[in-house]
Amino acid sequence: MNDQKLELFKKEFENLVSVNITSVEDLKSFLLQQKKVYEREEEKMLRHYIAFQCQSDSDEIKQQFEYDQQHIKPLFKKYQSLLDEKVLESPFLAELPDTEYGEYKKKLRTQFALFQEANLDIEKQEDALVNQYFEITGGLTANWEGKEVTISELFTHFRDTNRNIRKNAMEALYDPILKKEEKLQSILDELIELRIKKAENAGLNGFADYMFKKYYRFDYTPEDCTQLAESIREHVIPLALQLQKEHKKEIGLDDYKPWDVRAVPHNRKPLKPVDTDVELINKSAKVLAELDPVFGSLVHDMNEKKLFDLTSRKGKAQGGFCENLPETGLPFIFMNLTKTDGDLVVFMHEMGHAIHDLLKRDLELYSYKQIPMESAELASMSMELFTMNRWDEFYKTEEELNRAKKDQLKSAIMSLPYIMVIDQFQHWLYKHPNHTWKERTKKFGELKDRYDASIIDWKGHEDWKEKGWLYTLHIYEVPFYFIEYAISQLGALQLYKNYKENPEETISKYKQALSLGSSKPLPEVYEAAGIKLDFSSKTIAELMEFVAKELDLLTIS
Ligand SMILES: [Zn+2]
Repeated sequence: MNDQKLELFKKEFENLVSVNITSVEDLKSFLLQQKKVYEREEEKMLRHYIAFQCQSDSDEIKQQFEYDQQHIKPLFKKYQSLLDEKVLESPFLAELPDTEYGEYKKKLRTQFALFQEANLDIEKQEDALVNQYFEITGGLTANWEGKEVTISELFTHFRDTNRNIRKNAMEALYDPILKKEEKLQSILDELIELRIKKAENAGLNGFADYMFKKYYRFDYTPEDCTQLAESIREHVIPLALQLQKEHKKEIGLDDYKPWDVRAVPHNRKPLKPVDTDVELINKSAKVLAELDPVFGSLVHDMNEKKLFDLTSRKGKAQGGFCENLPETGLPFIFMNLTKTDGDLVVFMHEMGHAIHDLLKRDLELYSYKQIPMESAELASMSMELFTMNRWDEFYKTEEELNRAKKDQLKSAIMSLPYIMVIDQFQHWLYKHPNHTWKERTKKFGELKDRYDASIIDWKGHEDWKEKGWLYTLHIYEVPFYFIEYAISQLGALQLYKNYKENPEETISKYKQALSLGSSKPLPEVYEAAGIKLDFSSKTIAELMEFVAKELDLLTIS
């Protein structure tokens, strides 16, 4: 069965390889044909991936997914490279105007320079290791009041007003992953070794360099990342510390422990925007339609076509994502509802991605529909903030509404320092490949102290502080992908600031920027949205001033 599929797959690509290109018009139609084949094959693989995430304990589904990874994906990459070479060697490439095709040509050259046959085998090994990571973490369960529960189910308890319950929940969260520490640490060892080899094979000086090229990060450098970490340290930490101190006072504690960070004060009930996935979908559709009718109908379309899987269950992978199904022309949203305010925020976030997929759907070049995370996350994080003004659909009292908004702005601020820790940690991991596990965890603790300074008292739980990254799947699955969250959050806050001043114009520019896909350099996409791609201390200081003022307006009685 699978062998047959593989043959068909090869045939389809061989057809593309043998296309004769004799004019610039031929080249253009070849690119269209190529896009069709890519999108069809991509969607097949994505559907297998989604099925695996939805049901990672099914052997049949797992086999299908693994077959793709071991056989189809490497072949796909190989053909991609062959076809890129074909285009690069075509004398007609130069005739494609730079105004329209400039970004495409730049990416094509970068990607081609990066491709190494020898790396295909390494990437297979990488995938297998990443699968191991997901099997281990996806299979983790916690013991909660004598019952076996999923890890996601624990999160609701961190908001509990009862401190003991919070503490127990945190123990239940860390115990199972720390029991797997040795295995997870050694998976990372192997990944680091493979990845450094990959960079060497491509003739590059280090894995960061390799990934910056791979992600087409043409507009900032690893040095800029450190600059950003320092700017955030300088201007975000003071606000973050102030917010933590206020929270500590609100919950009336003398000491502030890791399990207190999300606690709801005694006189308040935890926020719960919805009870069910159906409610979440319907109410969100209404809110999004008010921002723009197109956004609202997208929710209905996706719902009709069963493109939401939002509830948590055993055997389903953790986390949330939105994957575009290019052939269907619609995305799929995956989530694990936790019955906390997070449900609303995550859903709006993923809908931002979905809207992005919709707006760039008709771009002519396959390459331009592939977007960098710095614009993908800008789309999603802005949507969290834009929808805030209509959260009264989910929260019925002003007190709850203001709390939810305040928490949203707070979490935007509080997340920035941690993002920089994960980013700087990854730079360190690959720059010092011979480190020991002890050095690794110690380094993480140090980076936390420097870039994520807090009033938390970790005494007696240093392990949690130094090993919390074991739950950060990005380190395993998508190395160096994390800083995008900070860059985009800063962009989203700028957009929110514009939105407060001029909502209609801001939504219109947002749509315009998203519809560009990656046809323009990142700074131009940000500019189209009416904001700046800027890591400077000055911009961050100004934004923090704006957020502090917004927070002051949200009084909670
Ligand atoms: Zn996202």
